[in-house]
Parts: sequence; structure tokens; C-alpha cells
Amino acid sequence: MTYTQIQKHLSNLGISDSEHGTAFGSSFISEKTTLSSFSPVDGNQIGTISCTSSESYDQIIQKAQEAHIQWRTIPAPKRGDIVREFGMALREKKQDLGILVAYEMGKSLQEGLGEVQEMIDICDFAVGLSRQLHGFTMHSERPQHRMYEQYHPLGIVGIISAFNFPVAVWAWNTALAWICGNVTIWKPSEKTPLCALACQKIIAQVLDNNNLPKAISCLLTGGAELGKLLANDTRVALVSATGSTRMGKSVATSVAARLGKSLLELGGNNAMIITPHANLQLALTGLVFGAVGTAGQRCTTTRRIIVHESILDDVVHKLTLAYQQLKIGSPLNEKNHMGPLIDTEAANHYISTLTEAKKQGATPIVEGKILTGKGYESRCYVSPAIYVAKNEFPIVQTETFAPLLYIIPYSGDVDNAIAIQNNVPQGLSSSIMSENLRETELFLSALGSDCGIANVNIGTSGAEIGGAFGGEKETGGGRESGSDAWKAYMRRQTNTINYSTELPLAQGIKFNI
Ligand code: NAD
Repeated sequence: MTYTQIQKHLSNLGISDSEHGTAFGSSFISEKTTLSSFSPVDGNQIGTISCTSSESYDQIIQKAQEAHIQWRTIPAPKRGDIVREFGMALREKKQDLGILVAYEMGKSLQEGLGEVQEMIDICDFAVGLSRQLHGFTMHSERPQHRMYEQYHPLGIVGIISAFNFPVAVWAWNTALAWICGNVTIWKPSEKTPLCALACQKIIAQVLDNNNLPKAISCLLTGGAELGKLLANDTRVALVSATGSTRMGKSVATSVAARLGKSLLELGGNNAMIITPHANLQLALTGLVFGAVGTAGQRCTTTRRIIVHESILDDVVHKLTLAYQQLKIGSPLNEKNHMGPLIDTEAANHYISTLTEAKKQGATPIVEGKILTGKGYESRCYVSPAIYVAKNEFPIVQTETFAPLLYIIPYSGDVDNAIAIQNNVPQGLSSSIMSENLRETELFLSALGSDCGIANVNIGTSGAEIGGAFGGEKETGGGRESGSDAWKAYMRRQTNTINYSTELPLAQGIKFNI
């Protein structure tokens, strides 16, 4: 795909190479600072966007508060209708937006389109959910009393998102937040601002078509300082933050200090256990996709494999052969398996991590490097690495957001592998490759994986929107997307109604006056 072809798709999304828009157009934007977006695919500058100033931040909050007053009075199924329209608009723009995601973030076109499909899927899910925001009813201990609980909107939901899922994570949050009656303010990654702007333009049109305030969906463009503003702002009822554990600790501390609500989706250090009872063909396919897909820049990327010593040589041999087949190059060319890292800083960090891993005692099986030459001019392309390491090495205990896979051998029973897998600070995704029921059930039991996601005979990477997504420990404990994750976006109220002529007190207390 040529740059001219890409520009055509950008123009279909209303994106020009000098953008100044936010939620309400240029009038609220200070021209003080701008953000430039470069593609890691070819190093081209895609566009420049104005950053939100602190004055415009306050105006955005005010507009969002006003929009919420109207939005919360609209019945949930009617709010669902708006989300349905948004899903339809995404269907129309799927190709254009998928290409922008691939070009600005550097993931494969197929994954870029897949990300837009996830947005469409969560819209469909949210539309159904808009008729099912159920609370329980309870039997009162008092005669002629009725008890039930109901859920109300929170108000403003702040969404801070990471570069690696530049559009889907926002949609997971907004589709649910909107049907729950909230308005949203999005602080996307400063590395993928144009994807955010394109989404904002799509929803703004839908809201406009329905004569609804555009501030139901607001956008802040700029760096971490805007995320900090949201975290510290008592007017923002919930801050849903996706990104590194470092960022999550900062957001959690600020939000907790004002007793606000936070929903945290942070870093992972995901492992696949391969036991002697594994179907190795299955394991290898899941493993290679999990380790090098999105160039190792998924929160669910497979970072460690814990392999039984009896099959170690076989796994290493087959894995090395598979890595030799990998084609690395433009993610817009579907023949390539792996595209670039997000920027040169990430590529340099990858190389320094490899050096540090060796210093700590890890042994390279496949060595990684920065690729140069034709097609690699952006200097963001790297080759993936496989190192044999010990789980307790400090470097193995941290998340390296790049295609570096550690092999950790284990001996004896599967309990030993599970202990290794749990012995890291993060707890996002995990998987076991085994056809032995005793092993797989143990892995899924309370004595098994301590992660938010535990898979059997599939890899660690990727998830369906129907399940609640998130992880434990330093991954932050939040749950987004499917199942009952919507409850995080609402406040619960318990109601007791007395339809008798008496006023009996609870717990049988007598209070005669
Ligand atoms: P990052 O933490 O550098 O940035 C994420 C977002 O947080 C950006 O919008 C950034 O501007 C903002 N930010 C940074 N510091 C902040 C602060 N102190 N206060 C408020 N906002 C702040 O992360 P990244 O490099 O963009 O993304 C990669 C990370 O995201 C990885 O750790 C990955 O595992 C994680 N991630 C997790 C999930 C999940 O669901 N668990 C999903 C995607 C990505």
C-alpha cells in the first residue's frame, strides 16, 4: 500500500495532515503545544494535532457535566440505539479506520481491522446490555415492605488508554459507559492521537445526527499531564486507565486520595506452561503467535514459557525453526508475520533489555537486533529473541514490551510449573498446554493460576469481548468488556419501600414515642 493510498483512507476519516480538532472544535484549543504523529511503518509524519490546554480542559469538563444532565435522563435502551448507530458507522468506516490503526500503531492490517471489529462487537454487546442493567430484588424481614437494588449512572468517566490498542480499549469502555448513562472523556496515548481523533469524528457525527450534545464523548489530546488532571479531578467519577503498571500506580494513588473510583488494566507478564502431556503442534502455534504477534506489544503477549525438562530440547528445536520462518516487514503487507515496534525509543529499550538479560545470566537461543536496510528505514523493526532464563532474574520479573520470550525449564510435577508461573508481580494472562485432565483442572483451580485469564490449550494472547477482561496483582484488578463488567460504570442503590401503615424498624428494634 502506497502513502498516497493511505492518505485517501485518512481523508475518508476526515483526517488532514494538520489537525486542530477536539470534542468541540478549535475554539477551546490553545495553540500552545502540538503533538506530531509518526508512523513506525515507514517513519513518515502522518499529521500534527493541537494539544488540549488546561483552560480548554476545564471547559471540556463543564460541557461534559452539562451533557450528562441530558444523557442520564434518556432511557437506557434509547441510549443503546445511539450505540447501535455508532456500531453501524464503524462498520462503514472499518477499512479506513483499520488502515489508520495499522499505519499509526504498526500492527498488521488484519489486526487493525480486527481491532475495529472488536469495537463493533462491543457496540452490539452494549446494545443488548442496555435492556439488561438488572439489579436483584430481596425479601424484606419486615411485613409489607419491598427491597430491591438498582443501578444509576456515575457521571463523567475518564478513559486513559495505551498506544497498543489505540481504538478498541476506548470502545470497550465507552460503549458500556454510555449505555449506563455516563459521558466519557478520553485521554488516548500521545503516540496514536490520530486514531483517537478519527473515532471522535465518527461518534460526533452520530451524536449530531441525533441532536445530542457532542460532549457525551470528549477527547483530550496531549501527554501524561492530561491523564494526571483526570486522576486528580473530583468531577471525574471513574477513571478507567489502561497502560503500564507505573502509570497505574500513579493514577490509583491520585484517585484513591480523593476516594474516587478507578478501573485499572495494567501490564502483564504472561506465561504458557507446556507439560509432557501437551499437543506440541498446538502449543507451538499458540506460542509463536502469542510471542511475536503485534511485535510483542500486547498486554497478553506470551513473555515466558515454562517447559518440562523432558521435552525442552524438542520445544527449543521446533521453536527455533519456527522463528527462522518469520517474515518481518511492513504490517500493511499481509505476507509479513511481524511489523515494527511503536518507535525508535522502544527499539532501543528492547536492545538494552537484551544486554541486561545476558548480564543477569540469561542465554540467547535466538538473538534479537534492530533491523536496517530497505524497508526498515523507520528503525523501529527488530527481530524477535528467545532467551533461556531463570524466573527469579529481576529482568524476567518485569514486563518488556517487545518480542522477547524467556524459556524457563521445570522438573517434576505440574505444581512446580504453576508455582513458577505465579511467581511474578503481574497477573494478567496465563495458559497451560496439556491433554491431561488432572493437570488442566489443577491449573484452573484455586491452587492454580493466579491470573485474571487462565486458558487451556490456547495461548495467552487475545480475548473475546464476551468475557470480563483484566488481571490481578500489579495488573490492577480491573475488569472491562463482557460479563458483568458494566457494573463498574454504575453506582448501586438499595431501595426499601414500606407499603404498610406501620413503621417497623429493622432487626426488631422497638422505639416507642
Ligand atoms: P503508558 O503507561 O506509558 O501510557 C498509557 C497512557 O497513560 C497514555 O495515555 C499516557 O499518556 C498515560 N499516562 C502515563 N503516565 C501517566 C500518569 N502518571 N498519570 C496519568 N496518565 C498517565 O503505557 P503504553 O506504553 O502506552 O502502553 C503499554 C502498556 O500498557 C503495557 O504495560 C501494557 O501491558 C499495558 N496495557 C495493558 C492492557 C490491559 O488490558 N491490561 C491493555 C493494553 C496495554
